[in-house]
Amino acid sequence: MSSEAIPTLQQSNTPLLPFSDYHTHPQGHRVQRYTQELLQRWADSARRLGLTDIAFTDHDRYHAGVDFGELNRLRERNPDLRIRAGIELDNDPVHSPAGRKWVEKNWDQLDFVLGSVHFLERPDQMFDSVPDGASQFEGRNIDEMYADYFRRLRELIATGLVDSLAHIDLIKIHGHRPTAEIRMFVNETLEFIRARNLTIELSTAGWRKPVNELYPSDSIIELATEKGIPFTTASDAHSHFQLGENFAKLARKMAEMGISQVCIFEKHRRADVPLQL
Ligand SMILES: [Zn+2]
Ligand SMILES: [Zn+2]
Repeated sequence: MSSEAIPTLQQSNTPLLPFSDYHTHPQGHRVQRYTQELLQRWADSARRLGLTDIAFTDHDRYHAGVDFGELNRLRERNPDLRIRAGIELDNDPVHSPAGRKWVEKNWDQLDFVLGSVHFLERPDQMFDSVPDGASQFEGRNIDEMYADYFRRLRELIATGLVDSLAHIDLIKIHGHRPTAEIRMFVNETLEFIRARNLTIELSTAGWRKPVNELYPSDSIIELATEKGIPFTTASDAHSHFQLGENFAKLARKMAEMGISQVCIFEKHRRADVPLQL
């Protein structure tokens, strides 16, 4: 028995940790103007976790807080990190028309735009509020809600203003499942994503929500992989303490699903990087 060989074997079987987090909210859920004090904590957390590439993607309704000059200063102060300027553009019926205009105006300064659907029928409440948003599903036809959710996603993609789709099956957040196979609902949207050469994210946020499952589900990951759609890695952190949350678990999932590359973006230009780099 060669006992000394065992540790080496175990090491080689340890999945490689993702090196990038492309969904973060330094401002949390309010406008907080970007300052070095606000942002440096995120850079420090990234370094501590071994992340080398992070994107700030505050909600478009808080775009007033985004300051590209401060982001440049942060880059100068942290030359060992790649820090991307981003935004999460959603379908907020009240604020997002202004958000879209802001994205168009600042397109050349942005590296990365996430697209997401947080609103269904109610303009005053995101359906992914926990627990209140669950009431929007009560007594409703869940299949129709899924179809409607993915239709809204395609509307957002059609704006041409997004590089990647955030938490693509967010509609499952409270645990409601359609009666038919999820592929039936998501296929057309994935086709559209492929045709537009966009990406989708693997988001650990699903593991801290009532559904307790990665966004997206294994079936959607498989279908996206079949179509050749690439992935970013993301935590949807609303505090620097959440940055890279559950990335060891994500690494195991990626190994299981045969994903060995991660997308990064610079000025909307995508690069597919092997995990070992
Ligand atoms: Zn979101
Ligand atoms: Zn988010």
